[in-house]
Amino acid sequence: MQQRPIQIAVIGGGISGLSAAHRLQELDSYCRVTLFEASERIGGVIRSEQQGDCLVDRGADMFTTRDPWALDLCQRINFDNQLISTNGKQRRAFVVHRGQLCEVPPGFTLMSPSRIYPVLRTPLLSWKGKLRLAAEILVPRKKDQADESLTAMATRRFGQEAYERLIQPLIGGIYTADPEKLSMAATMPQFAEMEREFGSLIRGVRKAAQNKPPASGARYGMFVAPQGGMTDLVDAIAARLPTNTIQRQRTVSQVQRTATGWEVHTEQPQQPQVFDGVLVAIPAFRAADILACNHEDLATQLRSIPYASAAVTALVYRREQIKHALNGFGFVVPQCAGRRILAASFSHVKFAGRAPQDLALIRVFLGGALQSQMLDLADHELEEVARRELNELIGAQGPPINCQTVRWKHAMPQYHVGHLTLVSTIEQAVATLPGLEVAGNAYRGVGIPFCIRSGEQAAQRLLTHCKQASRHRRRTP
Ligand SMILES: Cc1cc2nc3c(=O)[nH]c(=O)nc-3n(C[C@H](O)[C@H](O)[C@H](O)COP(=O)(O)OP(=O)(O)OC[C@H]3O[C@@H](n4cnc5c(N)ncnc54)[C@H](O)[C@@H]3O)c2cc1C
Repeated sequence: MQQRPIQIAVIGGGISGLSAAHRLQELDSYCRVTLFEASERIGGVIRSEQQGDCLVDRGADMFTTRDPWALDLCQRINFDNQLISTNGKQRRAFVVHRGQLCEVPPGFTLMSPSRIYPVLRTPLLSWKGKLRLAAEILVPRKKDQADESLTAMATRRFGQEAYERLIQPLIGGIYTADPEKLSMAATMPQFAEMEREFGSLIRGVRKAAQNKPPASGARYGMFVAPQGGMTDLVDAIAARLPTNTIQRQRTVSQVQRTATGWEVHTEQPQQPQVFDGVLVAIPAFRAADILACNHEDLATQLRSIPYASAAVTALVYRREQIKHALNGFGFVVPQCAGRRILAASFSHVKFAGRAPQDLALIRVFLGGALQSQMLDLADHELEEVARRELNELIGAQGPPINCQTVRWKHAMPQYHVGHLTLVSTIEQAVATLPGLEVAGNAYRGVGIPFCIRSGEQAAQRLLTHCKQASRHRRRTP
């Protein structure tokens, strides 16, 4: 019998779906992949645009090379020569403290210091707070291995002050999360492992630093971005796919298992298409909607992953309008500061080529799990909030010469305590539906490298399954 190519549908054209489609072709160039994307553009929450003379990333603006999967993909598609590192001269960040920007103590890695002297010198903490932080080495190990929240772990080990003024804003800023719910096991398992191994995070971080001494701002040295903005990465992956693989403006309304494979139904009036396998790489609550007809429990589990929304306002100022030296990559705002923005990123400092010399490009983050009401404001109101806060914090005076806001509604999955158990349950349910895989930022990592790993691993599993099923069909008369 003539062997026909395996046909696979990938649903969702964000970085997870694109990486999956690319991996399928890479593993088997004979396989036919159709990628359904609801919108007219690919990339999902990755979107770079020109704003006047500036290059603005509306969502993600960089990725880490510490987790290797994004860099690895860039190397395989010959895109690594397009990557630039963060500005080596200004590798520092600030935290808002008493209405001022205070430098994050050098060597402070999200949760724990690798160097004691900068912590002793920082005006961010009182002496009492510093002593309590240093006493972390005396805090006994947690007795059980149960997951806990960021608030629980950080206050237990470092005390309330270091948590409120340093740890919460640094980590909360990344996940736009409620720290009292954010799962340590799902987001930063390395710290729980350090506690288990060394009995102290300070000891663990210092030990890691001894093996590999951190240069000043070493963490920032691990971040890279495409010279032309994050969309270039998305386009480079898409360019490697055969023509007609990507079908834009095709919203999938349902995927349904049949006796021989999977039917994909779209909202656009067309006959359902039939595939050997389906890889669903869209937000979990949307995956729930299209999969509910096959497995109601799976849909319920997918819907129980909560999402937060955020807005990013990009403001362009003339450099002389701003009093602050802007000698860092940006600042984060502690929840206890009671302000209406979460963080701001000085894009023109972070990466070369984002703005002309005489301009400052600042991206302000608003909303998140704790300030969801901000998304109810109109764009001009969000922009007014951003302008006022920048005026107070960095002395930005007068109107910006350009200002634009993008909203990311329900775009940020929230990994609450117990998330990994929920994901295992979802994976078990998916495994009962042969020929189905799910991927994306909802499951085992929100950062771009993790999304790529998620898409690629799902692609590999799905192709293996489809090939086995195809062999089985050929053998069965
Ligand atoms: C503001 C912001 C800043 C961030 N900054 C960073 C950063 O600097 N570094 C970093 O590593 N990560 C960052 N992240 C996280 C990272 O960008 C995301 O986790 C990742 O891009 C998500 O990719 P994804 O493909 O899983 O999902 P998405 O990007 O959400 O893509 C899903 C796609 O599926 C499509 N879709 C949905 N429903 C359907 C349907 N029914 N049929 C067909 N298509 C459908 C959507 O249109 C979308 O294109 C940031 C995220 C946000 C929101």
